[in-house]
Amino acid sequence: MNNEAKIAYFSMEIGFSNNIPTYSGGLGVLAGDTLKSAADLKIPIIAITLISKKGYFRQDIDNNGRQIEYPVDWDPSKFMSRLPKKVEVKVEGRNVYIQAWCYKVKSITGGEVDVLYLDTDLAENTKEDREITAQLYGGDDCYRLKQEVVLGIGGVRMLHALGFHIKKFHMNEGHASLLTLELLLTHKKDVESVWDEKWIWDIDTVKDLCVFTTHTPIEAGHDHFSHELAKKVIGEIVPFELLKKLGGEYQLNMTLLALNLSKYVNGVAKKHGEVSKTLFPGYEINAITNGVHSFTWTCESFKQLYNKYIAGWANEPELFVRAEIIPDEELWKAHLRAKNELFDYIKKSSGIELSQEVVTIGFARRFTSYKRADLIFSNLEQLIKISEKGKFQIVYAGKAHPKDTPGKDIIKRVIDLSKTINDKVKVVFLKDYNMEMALNLVSGVDVWLNTPLRPREASGTSGMKAAHNGVINFSILDGWWIEGHIEGITGWSIGPKPSESALINTDDMKDAEDLYNKLENVIIPMFYNDRNQWIKIMKNSISKIAYYFNSHRMMRRYVTEAYLR
Ligand SMILES: *Cc1c(COP(=O)(O)O)cnc(C)c1O
Repeated sequence: MNNEAKIAYFSMEIGFSNNIPTYSGGLGVLAGDTLKSAADLKIPIIAITLISKKGYFRQDIDNNGRQIEYPVDWDPSKFMSRLPKKVEVKVEGRNVYIQAWCYKVKSITGGEVDVLYLDTDLAENTKEDREITAQLYGGDDCYRLKQEVVLGIGGVRMLHALGFHIKKFHMNEGHASLLTLELLLTHKKDVESVWDEKWIWDIDTVKDLCVFTTHTPIEAGHDHFSHELAKKVIGEIVPFELLKKLGGEYQLNMTLLALNLSKYVNGVAKKHGEVSKTLFPGYEINAITNGVHSFTWTCESFKQLYNKYIAGWANEPELFVRAEIIPDEELWKAHLRAKNELFDYIKKSSGIELSQEVVTIGFARRFTSYKRADLIFSNLEQLIKISEKGKFQIVYAGKAHPKDTPGKDIIKRVIDLSKTINDKVKVVFLKDYNMEMALNLVSGVDVWLNTPLRPREASGTSGMKAAHNGVINFSILDGWWIEGHIEGITGWSIGPKPSESALINTDDMKDAEDLYNKLENVIIPMFYNDRNQWIKIMKNSISKIAYYFNSHRMMRRYVTEAYLR
């Protein structure tokens, strides 16, 4: 393999496609989009992740609306090749051996990015250690910490063993923070008479090497471990006093560790950068707003449309600024093709037939409390009343983490409630949400709904995918939507402006009322009575959202603002 790469990108999960099920949601898909853009733009980057041989999980839903999880069975050898090199790390005092699978992201521009999937399923390891890289976000704290040792420490050792000379280590979220400890070890100063321990540790050099992107806007969301567990699993790779100083006095906080050892730190949207600063006062935290990979997230009919009217769009998404040039009828026809494809899929997979003529709302993402998937069901009576004035239908999909009981309850609630109103408002829940289904959904509905509890949506990316397909956003003003939204021009907001009420103090009922109000008085009437205006907003979604919220722009910013610093 080519070991010229200068930037190493570490991510616990990466989503490239359905075939490689090593992702759980937005974080992984973002990592995949990042690397696809890096390949297109020929950025010298290599990525490190875990092989997750049992994937995240396959989702089924039983007759009572309860989620059932099955391991995913996939064969890495179909997509990547095993490298001969082996490295070892210490876990609970044992040597754990690690090998890597190499996957190549190939771009039609000729660019290529290697991705190393670390694997501990080797004959040399104990039965237990062979499982460390099996299940994405599986097991308990101890299992997670072992995975993070393999990812962070094992990842750096693998890169060194393969002969890389890395100039920047980019941590996509705190899961890979332990890489900083390995860098402290390898950059230890060679001092002859050690009269003070602290002079050995070259923190400034390590900081120069590290870039950290945080993705979590609340304290509890950050990975942390008790010192006891850290001592047991990691051992004293660096003196414990030093680890406490860098990673937290009372517990090992992976975000804090990364913050203390990275020169460049960023949040994933402007608002998220600000929120992160209040969570971690005293740290300089920048913002680079997320984007999605345009080619990946554009459906077939829109690809053809763009090829005809905006040649070169895939490697230069700025050209979307010219979307106005597309004739209305052709845009609408392409949209109907995508809608038709989604409805065929829904009929095949669930037996439910939706009507092409009816305005269709889509909601799909991880099911976890703050995403408030059931907000639209806050007042069933009102929802039904709205549907009597103008018909609409809703399509849902999404998985809850196996241990997220409230998240699973929301899936059940959505399914239960939809049964009670099915003769008035058709609601479909598609099981086993994945990237392929995501593309079908973000291109095949008319309106993309997002109702997170502010300020919990660090960025969100599915709405950017929708915009790439002329699907209109209808969302709470949080994350990226604060930057993408112009009321009635690029889509519609729900609830107050970010400045209008204190963070956290969100009133569910107020948000729901605004949602109902706009659905009834703006969205449904425009869809049925003013198709020209509707198509105008579709075009604005392409020219004012897709134009900017793509991973090519995002990567150029990482290069100029983070990597070259
Ligand atoms: C894009 C994507 C997400 C992220 O969705 P958000 O609405 O940004 O949370 C999650 N899962 C899959 C499969 C995706 O493709």
